[in-house]
Amino acid sequence: MPDGRVEAFAHIARSAPHRAGDKAPDLEPVQDFLRRFGYLPEDGYTPGMLDAETSTALAAYQARNAVPVTGDFDESTAQAMTTARCGLPDLDDGVAFSTRCNWNGRGLTYAFDTGSTDIAGSAEFQAIRQALRTWTAATQIVFTEVGTNQNPDIRIGWRPANDPDHSMVGGVLAHADFPPDCGIITNNLPKPVHFDDSEHTWSIGAAAGAFDVETVSLHELGHILGLQHTSVNGAVMFPSVSSNFTLRVLQPDDRSGAESLYPRPPKVTSWGANRLDIFGLGTDRAMYHKAWTGNAWAPSPLDWERLGGVFT
Ligand SMILES: [Zn+2]
Ligand SMILES: [Zn+2]
Repeated sequence: MPDGRVEAFAHIARSAPHRAGDKAPDLEPVQDFLRRFGYLPEDGYTPGMLDAETSTALAAYQARNAVPVTGDFDESTAQAMTTARCGLPDLDDGVAFSTRCNWNGRGLTYAFDTGSTDIAGSAEFQAIRQALRTWTAATQIVFTEVGTNQNPDIRIGWRPANDPDHSMVGGVLAHADFPPDCGIITNNLPKPVHFDDSEHTWSIGAAAGAFDVETVSLHELGHILGLQHTSVNGAVMFPSVSSNFTLRVLQPDDRSGAESLYPRPPKVTSWGANRLDIFGLGTDRAMYHKAWTGNAWAPSPLDWERLGGVFT
């Protein structure tokens, strides 16, 4: 809804640059942001001061968000922090993709509830179905649409910013949750995929001041599958996104994360009588082979023969 559109994290936009040791009240919204997204603990730092803990948190934020690492609250950090983003925290301080846990089965159900008031008809649901197909291609997980009264695994819809299960007030566009064994929003089904319909404008495709539904839903569905935020700028699982922009294709970092959670089953054939030859793609993207030769596994029960190559 254009009337209610907010500047992302407007309090931070008004904070002046600060260096380690500075004391200033306008550091508090910066510290609130760092706490909200998993960089600062609930306590153990001095509010309104760029103390050692805050500086460490700023450095971690910068490293994960493609900002030069200074440990100060500087111009480029303020710019990154005032970009609209996902509501889930950046939980892991590793590099590149990181994963949390997977679903046990390869079939999930989903249901739509309320659509966006910004989009006519049900084009937003069509965009989400397309994002689901993109993840199916990478994970072999089959998503089946059901009614909201049919106990869906995932429930998808647009909400007010003050969403009861996870506030999206401020610059947060949307949120989801992780699979049942590692959720941070709820331990129950259905798992949420919620979009903020009061503070942001939604679009199908790139449009000035609006966010592409397929782009944002592709990211949120990655969380549903167990992927956390990545530090690779340009990947779907990067935590922030621009308006007037589309990213509807999984990047190599996203695909690596998906395949680590949902490995492709090996292919099997037979090169001769009484033998089985099994092929699998390694995490190094090379092809591997092993065989049952009639009385033993070759090269050994646990080892694979590396055939090489690079498959993408
Ligand atoms: Zn996210
Ligand atoms: Zn929610």
